[in-house]
Parts: sequence; structure tokens; C-alpha cells
Amino acid sequence: MSLSLLPNVSDLLTGHDTQDLPVEVAQQIIARCITPISDTEALPLKQTLGRVLAHDLISPINVPSYDNSAMDGYAFNAADLSDKSVRLTVVGRAYAGHPYLAQVDAGQCVRIMTGATIPRGCDTVIAQEHVSDTSDNQITISSGKISSGDNRRLAGEDLRTGSVALHKGKRLTPADIGLIASLGIAEISVVRRLRVAFFSTGDELRSIGQTLDEGCVYDSNRYTLHCMLVRAQCEPIDMGVVKDDPASLEATLREACTKADVIITTGGVSAGDADYTRQMMNRLGDVLFCKIAMRPGRPMAFGKIQCNGHSALLFGLPGNPVAVMATFYFLARDAIYRLMGTSPHSQTLLTAASNQAIRKKPGRTEYQRAILSTDSDGKQLVTLTGAQGSGILSSMSEANCMLVLHHHQGDISAGDPVSVLPFDGFI
Ligand code: AMP
Ligand code: MG
Repeated sequence: MSLSLLPNVSDLLTGHDTQDLPVEVAQQIIARCITPISDTEALPLKQTLGRVLAHDLISPINVPSYDNSAMDGYAFNAADLSDKSVRLTVVGRAYAGHPYLAQVDAGQCVRIMTGATIPRGCDTVIAQEHVSDTSDNQITISSGKISSGDNRRLAGEDLRTGSVALHKGKRLTPADIGLIASLGIAEISVVRRLRVAFFSTGDELRSIGQTLDEGCVYDSNRYTLHCMLVRAQCEPIDMGVVKDDPASLEATLREACTKADVIITTGGVSAGDADYTRQMMNRLGDVLFCKIAMRPGRPMAFGKIQCNGHSALLFGLPGNPVAVMATFYFLARDAIYRLMGTSPHSQTLLTAASNQAIRKKPGRTEYQRAILSTDSDGKQLVTLTGAQGSGILSSMSEANCMLVLHHHQGDISAGDPVSVLPFDGFI
């Protein structure tokens, strides 16, 4: 198969072994192979949470659209203030949605509520608790209590007409959606969901509902993957369990290629006798690498395949359930986001003290499952969840963070500072 399916990455590979690629290099290679999809769809605002904005969103109005009060109090003109206390006459009331329409003259003020339009002739609001002697329909403002323009929210101070309210590529959050609503926009254009076909491989796999024969395990990877893909706003296409058999594998890969933008397989990428996934990927397309210097997740193939005029990026993840999650989060998801025209998930690492000594070989990145906690002195501590086998899914379920041991790092002593990636918002 020609190498024309994917860009040239030889510069990134220089000095590295494709059988043992550092995680960062693998991430760079994958990033280079991405051409974002351009299809969009228009959706009602409430259905766009987490979706990727397809175009810059231009504000059609000023927000707020009129000068209004930030306080319950009295609106007046600051020209009335002097170095002595002043007494103003209350000439009317302004409520949110019920403006005071007349002109306010010198020596006058208007009782005003939060959100109400600042009446004509006024430029300042004093909070009700800062005025005194509110008898005879008058108020007293002591000197030095207030400055011109205080407690006034200016038209357009949140967003100005014609300005970019949100940039193309933004993954929409509740705040974004509220902001779009504040512009009076009911429907917006988002990038279509990425179609991701996935299947599990292994003769030992049984689906829920089937009898668990001797030597078999229930397929959990399709469930984790389904959920991770839904969270990433993809359209998951579940292609079931495929036997460790080259013909079935080829047929399923071909079908997946015609249906999806991305294919994710699990299992069968190691060098065992029944590990045909990589072999088949090579037959149908290009494989750029197949082993990463990471744990869990060492065997992981990445490439692109082609079938009947369709092509799809392919992630051949390992079979072990924790390795599937680690390779998805650290390698596949960023690609998925980039394909949808949005930036990768941020990986902000914290530093915490390791609660124990940890053996670590330099030359690979390790993602150990751990619990981040705060001790009685307010110091952050990180403790491994126990057995770290890549098949032990309960370690992921129990953990609230990954303890990240970097490529060049060696053994850790108890109390050493280590990098931690909290799960909240990440997984
Ligand atoms: P493999 O990468 O195919 O050699 O599989 C590695 C290990 O992961 C084996 O113990 C498999 O039984 C297990 N495994 C593979 N696929 C799945 C799956 N879909 N669900 C649960 N365990 C799996
Ligand atoms: Mg297998």
C-alpha cells in the first residue's frame, strides 16, 4: 500500500523507534494527520451543549441593550453632587421592564430597581442603604459616598453589536449557550457529529446476555468506548464483537470504513499468534506506528485505511480495558476533537506529593490510577488505587485522577512531588 493516504511524518519519527514511540511524538504524528470535517448542521440552541460552533458568532445587538441599574437604590445626575451632603426629591419609580419615561432634572432622583433602565438625565445610582433621611419624598446623599457613573451597567458592556461573541471551534458550555440566548438567537450552526465506528476483537469475548463459557470474558470495551464517544459528542457506530479471524476482521474493517470518519478497534494489536488487527490495517491502508512507550497502552496502532473510495483514520487500541481508556484519552480523543475543528482537551497537571514510593523505568510515560486528597495541613497527596494491572477496570472506577510519570522520570520516593491529572472534566 502506498504511503499517500497520510502526510509525511518522517521528520517526527527521526531518532525514534516506531515500535516504541514517546507519547508526545505519537500525539504530534496523529495531529499532523488530521483534516477537520467541514459538514455543519443547524440546531435549536438547547441541543448544542458540547457541540462545536461552526462559524464565528457575531452579536446582532448590544448586551445589555440599554444602560441599567446594578443596584436597588436611587438614580440621579452626578452633577448634583458637591462636597456637602445633597438632598434630592424622588420624582418617580423605575422597575426592570417598567422604565421611568420622563426627564429627570437637577435636584431630582428616581427610585430604581436592579435591571431597570437608567432614566433620562441620570448617570449614577446610589444603593438604597447608602442614603439617609428618606422623609418627605426626599433622600439625603452624604458627601464622598458615591462617584459619577457608579452602579450603572452600560449598554454593550457585555457584548457590542457586530463584535465576535464566540469564536468558531468553541465547544459550547452552559455559559456559552446562555450567552447566545442573551443575543436572542434561537438556532445555531454546529459541526456535525463525527461518525466513529468501533468494535471489539477476541474469540474469548461474550456480549451481555450470552453465557459466559469457560475461559471467556464479557466485552466491556464497547461500553466504555460508547460512553467516551458520546461524551466527546461523536455518533457512535457499534459494530459488535469480531472473532480473531482475518476474514471477519477484513470484512468488518471494510464496512466500518464506508460508514465512519474514524474507526476504533480494541484487542489484537499485540504480537500474539491471533493478533490480526495490525496485519489487516497494513493490508487495507497505512500504519504509521504500532507501539507507544506508555503504560498502560503499549501496543497501539495508528493509521488510515481505504475502501471503495472511502477512507477513515484508524486507532487500533489494545484489548485491556484500562489501556483502552488511557489510549482513548491520551491519543484518540484529541484527534476526534481536532477532526471536529475544535482544540484538544486541556491537560492541566497539578503537582501533589506521592503518598508512596513507586518503581518506574525511564523511557516510557506511565498513567497510574490514583486518588488525590488533601491532608489536615491542606497539602495535596496522591495515593495509588492499588493493583495497576491494565486489565483492572475497577482501578479506573475507584480513581479520581491519573498520577502521570513522565517519559524520562525514574523511581519515586514517598513524599516526592509528582504530576497529577484530575479526572473531573477530563474523563
Ligand atoms: P488483546 O489485546 O487482544 O491481547 O487482549 C488483552 C486482554 O484484554 C485479554 O485478557 C483480553 O481478554 C482482554 N480484552 C480484550 N478485549 C476485551 C474487551 N472487549 N472487553 C474486556 N476485555 C477485553
Ligand atoms: Mg485478543
